[in-house]
Amino acid sequence: MASRLTPAPSRETEFFWSGLKDQKLLIQRCADCQTLRVPPRPMCGRCQSLQWDCVESTGRGTVCSYVMPKYPPLPFLEYPYIVALIDLEEGVRMVSNLCDVAPEEVTNGMAVEAFYEAFNDDELVLHQFRPAR
Ligand code: ZN
Repeated sequence: MASRLTPAPSRETEFFWSGLKDQKLLIQRCADCQTLRVPPRPMCGRCQSLQWDCVESTGRGTVCSYVMPKYPPLPFLEYPYIVALIDLEEGVRMVSNLCDVAPEEVTNGMAVEAFYEAFNDDELVLHQFRPAR
């Protein structure tokens, strides 16, 4: 099984990492003005509220852009390795990996869906994306 660097959850990100373990892609939402924010942070940039909750994403979106990092090679990654900016249906943009597709087949705007992959002996679950089925 592949391994990945383990994130260090904070008060504002713990819900996100816990959601992934339940195979849910959660998005932080301002409890006052309902603005969604990715990545999670303590204060709403729109209304400065410190109150927040979260909503579950459908996991569907489109590729906004992508890169294929090559250097420095990291021992815990399999190459080619596609890092993509995903525009989720909910209107927020998220960084993730794009899997199950040849690099030459990736296009901006292609429909993708989230799936969940366990790493580090099931201690870590990460969201990944693949072409929508
Ligand atoms: Zn707000």
